[in-house]
Amino acid sequence: MTVTRGAGAGGVGRQLVSEPIALLGIGKIARDQHIPAIASSGAFHLAATVSRSGGIDDVENHADVADLLTARPDINVLSLCMPPVPRFDIATAALAAGKHVMLEKPPGATVSEVLKLERLARAKGVTLFATWHSREAAGVAQARAHLRDAQIKHVQIDWKEDVRRWHPGQDWIWQAGGLGVFDPGINALSIMTAIVPNPVHLTDATLSFPENRDTPIAADLSFAGPAGMTVDAAFDWRQEGPQSWNITVDTTVGQLRLTDGGATLHIDGMAQTCEGPGEYPGLYHRFAELIEAGQSDVDISPLQHVADAFMLGRRTTVAAFHD
Ligand code: NAP
Repeated sequence: MTVTRGAGAGGVGRQLVSEPIALLGIGKIARDQHIPAIASSGAFHLAATVSRSGGIDDVENHADVADLLTARPDINVLSLCMPPVPRFDIATAALAAGKHVMLEKPPGATVSEVLKLERLARAKGVTLFATWHSREAAGVAQARAHLRDAQIKHVQIDWKEDVRRWHPGQDWIWQAGGLGVFDPGINALSIMTAIVPNPVHLTDATLSFPENRDTPIAADLSFAGPAGMTVDAAFDWRQEGPQSWNITVDTTVGQLRLTDGGATLHIDGMAQTCEGPGEYPGLYHRFAELIEAGQSDVDISPLQHVADAFMLGRRTTVAAFHD
């Protein structure tokens, strides 16, 4: 995880209390998670939105980021919830204007974009927070602590869901830069890279592209780590019935299993009590801490693995997908 020190943005050294924040891109994740998380945050209050479709009731809305920056110079904190491809230009404008910026996952459509944003944030002395919401799931911190000194033999990731159920009508996920099945799969990789103490690298990948789409509907990945350790990941968007968001870690002394996207933890078959504020409240708490400390948090390792999969992966063509 990369944490860099800012050059001294507004907010450093003081505790944030109800700081005005703007939310940009009012779609599914903004409504489901960001708006409630900001409402429950002591650090921020929602002062404005940027939405092409009208925003939300009783909150001042702006048509684009340029309008927001001109009309509300008092808002120094922006949270970006639009899909990855349009996000880069908006993030660049916000950082260039000296604003603190939080990015939904994935932090960009390419690795280079994110590194460019990180450099700009450092140059402007502001906070850039590239979030990974799944790392805030209740079982992840405990899993990470448990595995800190473990000798891991194998990690099995099964991330299989029904795209029609979770992404109805979202065209961008099927367009170049939308990541396809890696949009949820990168959440699994964000957990894996957080709990496995040693770096791994991709050794093999097969990506299945529907014949009528630009992004994959399924992917099988293999990684290698130190001392013969291996990771296998199966991502599939064609899963009907029970959905699987599971990570199983076999060590030399036992087994750790994260299920429900990291919310539930079993160690050697025993359910563990896991508590936390919730994924998105946890992210906004961390964002406030980063701004107060004058730091950024930009870890590109999950995105790097996805980029490697697109580079190394074999491509197979599968049946056309229709919503
Ligand atoms: P979404 O509902 O399809 O779109 C989000 C919003 O972004 C749109 O409603 C639109 O808001 C804005 N937008 C779309 N295209 C744009 C463009 N070309 N330029 C500027 N703004 C644009 O997507 P989502 O599901 O919320 O996902 C957004 C991000 O959150 C993705 O990176 C995704 O991976 C991440 N995420 C999603 C979920 C989930 O369950 N859906 C969970 C975790 C993370 P306006 O109409 O207000 O402009």
